[in-house]
Amino acid sequence: MSSPCIFCQIAADEAPHALVYKDDDCCAFMDIHPLGRGHVLVIPRRHVVQVTELEGTLQDRLFQVARRILKAQRQLGWGIQGTHILLNDGKAANQTVPHAHIHVIPRESRDGLKSMGRLLLHVTGLFGPRQKPAVLQQQAESLRHEMDRFQE
Ligand code: AMP
Ligand code: ZN
Repeated sequence: MSSPCIFCQIAADEAPHALVYKDDDCCAFMDIHPLGRGHVLVIPRRHVVQVTELEGTLQDRLFQVARRILKAQRQLGWGIQGTHILLNDGKAANQTVPHAHIHVIPRESRDGLKSMGRLLLHVTGLFGPRQKPAVLQQQAESLRHEMDRFQE
């Protein structure tokens, strides 16, 4: 039977997602309610709620993958002016999906108001409109292509 956790389902390829990266321990995919163009989530494939439940090497690995995604986003011109690398690690820190994840959110200088509105929706757990799957797939493909061009 499949897990009730949506991120476990994504890690097991049992739920739709736009895949950016996958290895034995981690995977990365596009956020369906992006707070910036090309917003990616990096998760451990094993179900844990907080990152401290993972061994240290795996915690490091997640941040290493997040750094590679940051680099690929910048190669594509996303988040040149700034990026949030964000970890809402627990309920009190506004974690809404109880499976550990790192957000890599490219920002642009003039996206302030739009992004603030979306951020408010995230924090309240209401979220905004979903990005079109075709757009997410195209962004994921561009990121995969960039990540293939360099290893670390
Ligand atoms: P957090 O508030 O840090 O727990 O963030 C959870 C994130 O997961 C939000 O940005 C959601 O948009 C995102 N999210 C929830 N369900 C999915 C899904 N099925 N595929 C991709 N992203 C998701
Ligand atoms: Zn899970």
